[in-house]
Amino acid sequence: MTDTETYDVVVVGGGPAGATAANDLARLGRSVLLLDRAGRIKPCGGAIPPRLIRDFEIPDELLVARVTSARIVSPKARHVDMPIDGGFVGMVDRDVFDEWLRVRAQTAGAIRRTGTFERIARNSDGTSTVSYRGRDGATASGSIRARAIIGADGANSAVARQTIENADRTPFVFAYHEIIRSPRLQGGNFDAARCDVYYRGELSPDFYGWVFPHGDTVSVGTGSACKGFSLREAVGALRRVAGLDRTETIRREGAPIPLHPLPRWDNGRDVVLAGDAAGVVAPASGEGIYYAMAGGRLAAEAVDEFLAGGDARALASARRRFMKSHGNVFRMLGMMQRFWYANDNRRERFVSICRDRDVQQLTWDAYMNKELVRARPLAHVRIFAKNIAHLTGLVPA
Ligand SMILES: Cc1cc2nc3c(=O)[nH]c(=O)nc-3n(C[C@H](O)[C@H](O)[C@H](O)COP(=O)(O)OP(=O)(O)OC[C@H]3O[C@@H](n4cnc5c(N)ncnc54)[C@H](O)[C@@H]3O)c2cc1C
Repeated sequence: MTDTETYDVVVVGGGPAGATAANDLARLGRSVLLLDRAGRIKPCGGAIPPRLIRDFEIPDELLVARVTSARIVSPKARHVDMPIDGGFVGMVDRDVFDEWLRVRAQTAGAIRRTGTFERIARNSDGTSTVSYRGRDGATASGSIRARAIIGADGANSAVARQTIENADRTPFVFAYHEIIRSPRLQGGNFDAARCDVYYRGELSPDFYGWVFPHGDTVSVGTGSACKGFSLREAVGALRRVAGLDRTETIRREGAPIPLHPLPRWDNGRDVVLAGDAAGVVAPASGEGIYYAMAGGRLAAEAVDEFLAGGDARALASARRRFMKSHGNVFRMLGMMQRFWYANDNRRERFVSICRDRDVQQLTWDAYMNKELVRARPLAHVRIFAKNIAHLTGLVPA
């Protein structure tokens, strides 16, 4: 083991959050080491909004499909198609997408290292030493000194568990999907430019099932926080319902999705978290890639301010700024998930509400641009009235 290198920042985890933070800090002229354990494709539906493509300058060639509508399917198999007017949702394959982000950070000046983070030790000069384990003899173990550390090592973050109180109490949804060969023939239930979302208790008692097209492949998955619920059986059932049970299965994989942002993302000294490590995945939708990258960018800004001024309170700005921009959306989606996903009767009503063109328009605007749209107050009032009518049973499902 060597302990000679000192960096301004060690970023632990090279997913969307960590690779974005490393890229931004390297561009700001900071010395950055990006530590990633590598060797595993992140299980993910890979849907990204235009705001992400714009803000983080994602090139077209990373999009394996462009989705132009969503079909939401009710427990009674009624469906509503929600076309996107003049826009699209991008689909990425995470092995290619994540590596592209890491290479971009490297090109900006970050040094890459393959290894699994093990622990942080404090030094008397105010720096910390980050130790890591090499991968199965293929890469060496080692340690690095750092003035600041960004923990972007995903859900169940080891950095968070070691440095932030109560980080191990975050609740999770567990999500599982199967990557299958795309049906060669279009038609029937499948459309290569459409995302299908199934709301049905037997496919998920508290989340939803999905069929997301990825060019040559398709992600078919579901999630649940309920212990004992068989995600594998549910995906099997979903594949039968969607007519995708005879297509070749390429991979089966799952991972936890955190349910709430942690109350604190920094240790008041030299560590700040970003992405799944900080618990930032949107409730109800499970969307995390955009929020990971936005969080990575804010963590980079906070660390840069800390390094420039020496005041560790700057680290807390990452969470503050994130919640200012996205806190309301997270709260609203949390309420939506608790209420509408509670039972099949409510799911049926929820799908029914989505027939409304204003609901569709506002949903897409919010997803595509990551802002609650205030421009059309009358539409909000109408939707509110319809919600109440459905909730009180005045309208049949
Ligand atoms: C099945 C499923 C489907 C999903 N579908 C979507 C979707 O369609 N759209 C969407 O926006 N979001 C989706 N999400 C959520 C999204 O995948 C995550 O929110 C997002 O990947 C978070 O990015 P991140 O960089 O914070 O963490 P991750 O992507 O998990 O990256 C963490 C990185 O840290 C590395 N790492 C972990 N531990 C260590 C360690 N000890 N030492 C060194 N490196 C380490 C890993 O190798 C990885 O590269 C889905 C999640 C799941 C599970």
